[in-house]
Amino acid sequence: MLISIVTPCYDEEAVLERFHEAVQKVSDELLPLGHDMEFVYVDDGSRDRTLSVLERLAARDQRVRYVSFSRNFGKEAALLAGLRHAGGDCVVVMDADLQHPPELIARMVRLREQGYDQVIARRTRIGDRLTRTLAARLYYRLVNRLVDVELMDGVGDFRLLSRRVVDAVLGLTEYNRFSKGLFAWVGFPSTTFAYENAVREAGRSSWNLRGLLEYGLDGVLSFNNRPLRAALWLGVSLLLCAGLYTAWIVIAALLHGVRTPGYVTIITAVTALAGVQMVMLGVIGEYTGRIYYEVKGRPHFLVKATNVERTKDLIP
Ligand code: UDP
Ligand code: MG
Repeated sequence: MLISIVTPCYDEEAVLERFHEAVQKVSDELLPLGHDMEFVYVDDGSRDRTLSVLERLAARDQRVRYVSFSRNFGKEAALLAGLRHAGGDCVVVMDADLQHPPELIARMVRLREQGYDQVIARRTRIGDRLTRTLAARLYYRLVNRLVDVELMDGVGDFRLLSRRVVDAVLGLTEYNRFSKGLFAWVGFPSTTFAYENAVREAGRSSWNLRGLLEYGLDGVLSFNNRPLRAALWLGVSLLLCAGLYTAWIVIAALLHGVRTPGYVTIITAVTALAGVQMVMLGVIGEYTGRIYYEVKGRPHFLVKATNVERTKDLIP
């Protein structure tokens, strides 16, 4: 079996060499069992010397393939490029920062041999800050209500995919990619095991709170139109409330005569309704924006440098 290790790298010069050594070690252990490996690195327009590290690795180890983007296109695009350039019978997707322990690859391969098409590593939240754990738990509960596919807390991109899963994912050509959801959407026999997340070896996580929030929103919006449906229901229930309230005011006026009308009630109603409308407009706008991006049909990434021969892959 040929196993492709796909790794997106953004400003990872500090850990790349160490990462490669670690996966090489795993590769040496798997070789006697009849498993060969190739390494597909995608440099996502790094600002540091990640590309020259990759060139060096490729010169030393002929199993290294690299693709370097013309600029930073984001991890999702990098992942897509990696999958496109992977030629293995199965693909292991993992981060470069050694937060995904390479030792687990052997375990994934064993599970693949048992027939699973997706072997998913789920990180435990041991050692995370409590607020983050709670936020994640809340988010997943909410999201799973909203989307059709089941998303699990702690499940990320660290997983093994069989060839048919990779081909299926590559067949999903949408511009707004939310890999977690795409993998779940594809399905096929899957299994999950838990591991303890390591702290980042070096470099810095490229996530900030805003990025996380937007990523979370993407997760909800890129999967179905349920938020639009929710907006519809909200509108209907507000209308109902307004009708009931009006009826109540009219009846009260008939029974007790007109009293001085409330300034506060009016202001509250007006601002609240304006807020609700803005939210709904925002939801519609989000979807329209997505359609706009899909319609433009731009490539997901542009390649600046690579050592992969297959030029057909360079045009996404
Ligand atoms: N990454 C990337 N492009 C980006 C941001 C990140 O390819 O724009 C890569 C990064 O090099 C790493 C992986 O995605 O291999 C995960 O990134 P990070 O460690 O910053 O995220 P976290 O582990 O905090 O979720
Ligand atoms: Mg990380």
